[in-house]
Amino acid sequence: MCRVTTAEHATDVDVLIVGAGITGIYQLHRAREAGFTAQLLEAGGGVGGTWYWNRYPGARFDSESYTYAYIFSKELFEKWEWREHFAEQPEIERYLNHVVDRFDLRRHMRFNANVTSALYDAASSTWAVVLGDGSKVRARFLIAATGVLSVPHFPAVSGRDDFRGEQYHTGLWPARPVDFENKRVAVIGTGSSGVQLIPVIADEVASLTVYQRTANWCTPLNNAPITSDEQARLRADFEAIRETLNTSPHGFLHRTHDRATFDDSNEARRAFYEKMWNSPGFAKLISHYTDVMVDETANAEWCDFIAEKVRSIVKDPATAEELIPKDHRFGEKRPPFVTGYYEAFNNPKLSLVDLKATPIVRVTESGIETAAGVREFDIIVWATGFDFGTGALARMGIRGRRRLALNEHWADGPKTFLGVQTAGFPNFFFPGGPHAAAGNNPRYNGDQVDFITDTLVYARDHGYDTIEVDPAAEERWTDMVDRNATAGSFTEASYYFGTNIPGKPRKYLLNSGGRPKLFKEIDRVIANDYKAFRLSRSG
Ligand code: NAP
Repeated sequence: MCRVTTAEHATDVDVLIVGAGITGIYQLHRAREAGFTAQLLEAGGGVGGTWYWNRYPGARFDSESYTYAYIFSKELFEKWEWREHFAEQPEIERYLNHVVDRFDLRRHMRFNANVTSALYDAASSTWAVVLGDGSKVRARFLIAATGVLSVPHFPAVSGRDDFRGEQYHTGLWPARPVDFENKRVAVIGTGSSGVQLIPVIADEVASLTVYQRTANWCTPLNNAPITSDEQARLRADFEAIRETLNTSPHGFLHRTHDRATFDDSNEARRAFYEKMWNSPGFAKLISHYTDVMVDETANAEWCDFIAEKVRSIVKDPATAEELIPKDHRFGEKRPPFVTGYYEAFNNPKLSLVDLKATPIVRVTESGIETAAGVREFDIIVWATGFDFGTGALARMGIRGRRRLALNEHWADGPKTFLGVQTAGFPNFFFPGGPHAAAGNNPRYNGDQVDFITDTLVYARDHGYDTIEVDPAAEERWTDMVDRNATAGSFTEASYYFGTNIPGKPRKYLLNSGGRPKLFKEIDRVIANDYKAFRLSRSG
């Protein structure tokens, strides 16, 4: 593959992948399997990506373990027995290490290898990548599998560095255990990470103060161990499971419902809501009434039901009211799934601070000052989210043709074709990045990895070594994403529009056309002989 003109531009590898998360590991496997030389760079000290960094107590899947896991190998699926329907972080990290070793991928990986710049050289159609330690790698193809939730966000609160106690971000959790025993702990943020962590540490701490700016519509995860009968059934059903996960719009096994909210009597609806409340994870979105996300009255009925549940669990009525969202409906933001979250507020060690009523003024040497006064802490946990979608790509110093910086090209928001390539950056791909997400992460990321690998193989088979998306194809996909951005349930209340990061363009960062649109477009590209791309030969 590596046809090069000068020794200076000789490539070290055909394919250079950045990121050893679920997507990067799969991309490395596919590239190797397709006969390319490949290397993977990972900023962390081990395998896992998101599941390496987010090792806070309580971190776990909220997609079923066997639907989030790899399905490219029947042997792997049969060999690895998940302990729980929703696995906890340590088990996930063990699994990913198992995959890496099983498919002999570790020898192609470099850890603690942080990319600081990546420059495209048009004369040789190669990428020159520089790492934090000054070392360089030159590759024909650069594939950034750097994830959407990999750059933690710390809010601009003054005095953060003055705090003398311990501070952690859920997305940068240390590998050593954090001792919460008898500590006065503050948790800031009540998104999916905060609400997973809070109940798990509640018994250990001396006190736990939850700083909540916006209440969330949390519903039970309903996790359980996988019984031996269920293990046997999973193994027996592998082909059917794989078929559903590879073809369903969301990449889950949950079935869609066929009734709308007011098709049912009050009594039947109440029974259905109970069934939803007791259903696992994302079933509450996918298997719900067909109109719950689109019809305001239907959504309000379901929200009333959840509010009633919160009031029945949380004994202090004032705390219960604060935990019930009043400013957005269910599904407007990504809903968290919880285990014992509302119950934890009955623990006298927990207290809730409403940051809308009493905003944080500053962090002091010994605690947090709000408009209501100062509270002292030993540990502050920032569960304040991420620079979603584009955060990691924006920090890699990527420059394409004529040294154009990716940040400049995307100054008004990302422009992509299928969420895999952007014009002016030949031979650069970013599976699992902006304009990609549409349901269960590993499923659509896997679709993209498969498509990218097939494209590389097509180019090689036809004697091309330069692949660059046609600007018209990029415009078509980006317009589709922007046009449909408000058609779904998410609104600008969601970080999916970049609204949680000051100064970030307000642009939709998921694939608003969903997986069916991705499948359709991929079929079209293949049917049209990859004409959406400009394929050429260097030199
Ligand atoms: P998040 O959903 O963005 O939540 C961040 C929290 O921090 C929100 O409560 C936010 O309040 C608060 N916050 C942000 N800036 C603040 C400020 N200046 N002052 C006070 N509060 C502030 O982040 P996350 O909880 O880490 O979750 C991110 C995503 O990761 C999830 O949506 C999910 O996709 C994924 N995740 C998945 C799992 C899983 O179960 N598999 C677990 C954890 C995370 P506002 O709402 O008011 O902005």
